[in-house]
Amino acid sequence: MKALVYHGTKDVSVDSVPDAKIEKPTDVVVKITTTNICGSDLHMYEGRTNVAKGTVLGHENLGRVEEVGNAVDTVKVGDYVCLPFNIGCGFCANCERGLTGFCLTCAEPGSAGAAYGFAGMGPYSGGQAEYLRVPYADFNCLQLPSDVKEKENDYVMLSDIFPTGWHATRLAGIKPGDSVVIYGAGPVGLMAGMSANIQGASKVIIVDRHPDRLKLAEKIGAVAIDDSTGDAVEKVLALTEGLGADCGCEAVGFQCQDHHGHEVPNLTMNNLVKSVKATGGIGVVGVFLPKDPEASNALAKKGQIAFDFGSFWIKGQNIRTGQANVKAYNRKLRDLITAGKAKPSIIISHELPLEQAAAAYKNFDDRKNGWTKVILKPAA
Ligand code: NAD
Ligand code: ZN
Repeated sequence: MKALVYHGTKDVSVDSVPDAKIEKPTDVVVKITTTNICGSDLHMYEGRTNVAKGTVLGHENLGRVEEVGNAVDTVKVGDYVCLPFNIGCGFCANCERGLTGFCLTCAEPGSAGAAYGFAGMGPYSGGQAEYLRVPYADFNCLQLPSDVKEKENDYVMLSDIFPTGWHATRLAGIKPGDSVVIYGAGPVGLMAGMSANIQGASKVIIVDRHPDRLKLAEKIGAVAIDDSTGDAVEKVLALTEGLGADCGCEAVGFQCQDHHGHEVPNLTMNNLVKSVKATGGIGVVGVFLPKDPEASNALAKKGQIAFDFGSFWIKGQNIRTGQANVKAYNRKLRDLITAGKAKPSIIISHELPLEQAAAAYKNFDDRKNGWTKVILKPAA
């Protein structure tokens, strides 16, 4: 089959690889009809993770079930399913509590959490490919309704960024009527904004510096702040009576930059402490890594940042972090899409065949104007 293979820093190509197949009776094989490129793929693409050369990337996957293992009960050939990016077993101590982003069974020994085509998250091949092997299929397949053909580009966002944006707002503890500030207007930040609006936020403020992404922020009903034209914190405080927003979300991660394009790994976290009010919650879904050998400073190489802990403590804020537990949300978010109450596809900028994936990586990685979210159609 054809698949997008990682060969090294900024070096990916669509190659022929062995077909995905049933390896355990609890597996299914899915013919991928839509698969997205994610901001998380870019950390790997830029050589900032330990992902192995030869890995097939792609963790935002949707498709039609082609083959079903003997021990699978609920999933049938022909079903259209969306796969959470994290792979859960359903029966470990963490999955049992809904924390499927931290599955103990599927993870590498000594760690928690597994995903398709992802650094440090197990040996699972990704879905930027014609076919994908799905372990523990009864648990991991989200069944899609009969309007899947019409709304496929919405439903595919249930694999990651819609639940991840939602997770950011839940980690931040948003309540109806709250104001929320979100750093990052990439796909995840935009989905956090959409999620906040659905939950009744009184004001959603999104900070970034790319005009195309800021325009999308406005389209989803947020106040867009361009931090290339002045201090973002001051602008947030001016919009929140000098107190800061009720809560905040981090949707950038360890490669956050100042507006000159220099990486400053503590920038968004310290900006959040300053632009969220005392006692407010901060939800961090942007990825931070325990080690980053390519980082710009000695602390960051060890996965550390100079965090304004004193200000954070004095303000009595709280922070919650981590991978999104997609399965905790995806069923209900699917129902919002089916009911026409959420339309995450509005952020898609490019719909391309798998063959064009390598060029798409380059353009998305350059944050080239107009390249907000790329979806690939391997079966087209
Ligand atoms: P993206 O790279 O497309 O978007 C990031 C945006 O942040 C860009 O638009 C960039 O201009 C902006 N940015 C950079 N520095 C900034 C700063 N100092 N202030 C404000 N904005 C700044 O990525 P994405 O797909 O939206 O993903 C965002 C982050 O979320 C990534 O780290 C990704 O790995 C992570 N992620 C986490 C999960 C999870 O489960 N926790 C899931 C998916 C993605
Ligand atoms: Zn993703």
